[in-house]
Amino acid sequence: MSVCAHEIAVYCLASGSSGNALLVVAGSNSLLIDAGLGVRTLTRELKARGVAPESLGGILLTHEHIDHVRGAVPFGRRYRVPLIGTEGTLQTLLTQDGRDAPATVLANNGEIGVGGFAVRAARTTHDAADPVGFRVSVGDFALCYATDTGTLSPEFRDACRGASLLAVESNHDIHKLRFGPYPDAVKARILSRHGHLSNAAACDFLLAHTGEHGAVCAWLSHLSSTNNTPRMALGYWKKRWTEAGFKASPAAVEVALRDKPSLVYRARSRSVQLSLF
Ligand SMILES: [Zn+2]
Ligand SMILES: [Zn+2]
Repeated sequence: MSVCAHEIAVYCLASGSSGNALLVVAGSNSLLIDAGLGVRTLTRELKARGVAPESLGGILLTHEHIDHVRGAVPFGRRYRVPLIGTEGTLQTLLTQDGRDAPATVLANNGEIGVGGFAVRAARTTHDAADPVGFRVSVGDFALCYATDTGTLSPEFRDACRGASLLAVESNHDIHKLRFGPYPDAVKARILSRHGHLSNAAACDFLLAHTGEHGAVCAWLSHLSSTNNTPRMALGYWKKRWTEAGFKASPAAVEVALRDKPSLVYRARSRSVQLSLF
């Protein structure tokens, strides 16, 4: 029996309607969740963190909207890195783009190994072909990621058990959206179960999750520039845990910034490997 230790680092490279990308590194293994930045920017940001683009195990795609896939096809082609997503996501993306790239289909709610990581897709509810969030784990570390979803599905909530880091959408303040400048049809779409998650929904989920599973780190993600601010999102979180009777925040909650690299999470994970000899 041997014990393996991995240095884990998770980098939020961008989060919001102008681009989304999360880099997960464990020792010499790495992957991206979403590639909503251009290839040049992605290449630069990976290299700045010591990751060779061609060494990525894969790019996990939540869905085919441009802010999540902008650089995916050209990056996959240039560096021969597989795009990993549901059949609906990959088909829509590759048809839209009209080009080919290495791709691996992952069933909605299915599991797959990517480099040294175990990856599980968990259903989200959004106006896309077949959208998912992800649980990415290595050793005793797990990250769960869901943005662009009107609700958090039972499958995603279940995937979050035991995770150390939750990156969950906190798109808008409901009041600011309702009384803001968007046309009624857009407001209705955002508020629907196939739209985006509000500060209230994200914070209620975090409060319920920490009540059941204990403290976690949480990144409030995919904030709207029109209908939210980092201050509002964090303010709502504080309001909720104060109302719930806590003396201090029961989770380490931070906000992912929209258009530049922001949050970094570091940890060591341990995994025990059984050997026959
Ligand atoms: Zn998005
Ligand atoms: Zn979307």
